[in-house]
Amino acid sequence: MPEPRILIWYRNDLRIHDHEPLHQALKQRGQVFPVYCFDPRQFGQTSFGFPKTGAFRAQFLRESVADLRRSLRTLGSDLVIRMGKPEDVISELVQQWQIDAVHYSQEVTAEELAIEVALQERLKAINGTLKGFWGHTLYHPDDLPFEITHLPEIFTQFRKQVEKTATVNSVLPSPRILKGLPEGIQVGTLPTLEDLGLVSPPVDDRAVLPFQGGETAGLNRLDSYFWKGDRLRIYKETRNGMLGADYSSKFSPWLALGCLSPRYVYEQVQQYEQRIRNDSTYWLIFELLWRDYFRFICAKHGNKIFYTSGLQGTSIPWKADWERFDLWCTGQTGFPLVDANMRELAVTGFMSNRGRQNVASFLTKNLGIDWRMGAEWFESLLIDYDVCSNWGNWNYTAGVGNDARGFRFFNILKQSKDYDRNGEYVKHWLPELAEVPAAKVHEPWKLQPVEQKRFNVRIGVDYPNPIVDLFKSAAANEKVYNAAIGRK
Ligand SMILES: Cc1cc2nc3c(=O)[nH]c(=O)nc-3n(C[C@H](O)[C@H](O)[C@H](O)COP(=O)(O)OP(=O)(O)OC[C@H]3O[C@@H](n4cnc5c(N)ncnc54)[C@H](O)[C@@H]3O)c2cc1C
Repeated sequence: MPEPRILIWYRNDLRIHDHEPLHQALKQRGQVFPVYCFDPRQFGQTSFGFPKTGAFRAQFLRESVADLRRSLRTLGSDLVIRMGKPEDVISELVQQWQIDAVHYSQEVTAEELAIEVALQERLKAINGTLKGFWGHTLYHPDDLPFEITHLPEIFTQFRKQVEKTATVNSVLPSPRILKGLPEGIQVGTLPTLEDLGLVSPPVDDRAVLPFQGGETAGLNRLDSYFWKGDRLRIYKETRNGMLGADYSSKFSPWLALGCLSPRYVYEQVQQYEQRIRNDSTYWLIFELLWRDYFRFICAKHGNKIFYTSGLQGTSIPWKADWERFDLWCTGQTGFPLVDANMRELAVTGFMSNRGRQNVASFLTKNLGIDWRMGAEWFESLLIDYDVCSNWGNWNYTAGVGNDARGFRFFNILKQSKDYDRNGEYVKHWLPELAEVPAAKVHEPWKLQPVEQKRFNVRIGVDYPNPIVDLFKSAAANEKVYNAAIGRK
């Protein structure tokens, strides 16, 4: 029997290790044809008009694709790169190369599923075979103690049941060698950012890490965070930080594009636990469970996660206040913690989890602005943008998530004091406040004129006055929220 010709359609699974579509193709002793398509729809605009894939994210993606190509070449094969809609490109290549089956990693959200369906239809018309594999989560849906349709709506219930009964599958072996692509195949060139309609973002050396896309850099980061730096042992204590490379793992960008497999991270944690096992080693897996949870929730609820009314179906009359939204995006709200985080995002494409929770709460609970505008702004900028984690977390912080328990908001001032007591983080990103003492830096609007002079900052000129009163604005939005859910 001739060897089957299998096209590997790469998407957000840009790696060699623990890759089921590739593994299954090789198990059949197939000749593999790895392909990546830069889909023009990904480089259009979001519904509120932001670049759908902004420059930071596009750059990380380019680097990840380039790294995958390098790895495949080292193994003897190559990565074919095309610009175009996958349903057009792949169906054409299937005919041209006489492909027997297309293997890919399944996604769960609307835009991605629509492409799978379109490709399925195109292949059906030419008798092609499309085979999807599940690969983004720690736990495989087949191993969950419930059907996805019966997934618990509360994270803790999900976690407890999973921890009690389910097991994580082992990492699949990586191939050592691959057959070369047949002669004459045009492998295509990697598009530049300019080809994608974007401009290279300047490098800001205040960034937490010089993030580099790709499996190689992702594996190196794990090695450095777990093994060389030995930081996992204190992860639980440091994970709420905002400054520096090592307060948290920073695995998210590599996980989002599939450069790192969550099962590989899990296995490495298990190995690390032979060195030391404590709350921190458990907590990293706990966080990965949140990631799993959002993906399964998306699989269960379909498009609900994108609706204004969210998973909970609460119709809140959100504002589309563009003026204040712009101040939020550019870090000009007058609240240093919010501004520092938003400026970090704008110039690096990354923000800590603590920062994300605060800025999202401020946008929705203090400004009362449509949470989807915030979610799309994050989608455009975050190098770790993951459709399920992003929209899922925004549902939660906006109070429209499936376990929303009334109006909860982050007290930005308390958060500032709890997580940036010495003001180091805000001063890192807001140079105009550099000389203000730590005790006063989180409330610069209280500085007397003589203090402003002494600390070299003019409030209202160099740094803005607060755009809202923190507590009055929250109280006003709480009323709106309560009216929407029918609570007095
Ligand atoms: C409004 C908002 C939007 C977010 N958008 C995204 C997003 O687009 N992509 C994304 O990966 N994460 C998102 N998060 C979750 C979280 O902020 C990031 O995963 C985390 O900051 C990444 O840094 P890290 O890798 O150092 O995390 P660590 O603290 O080291 O955690 C390890 C891993 O666990 C997972 N994880 C941790 N916290 C969460 C969480 N709350 N939800 C889901 N997974 C989690 C991530 O994969 C992360 O890499 C969002 C959170 C909020 C509040």
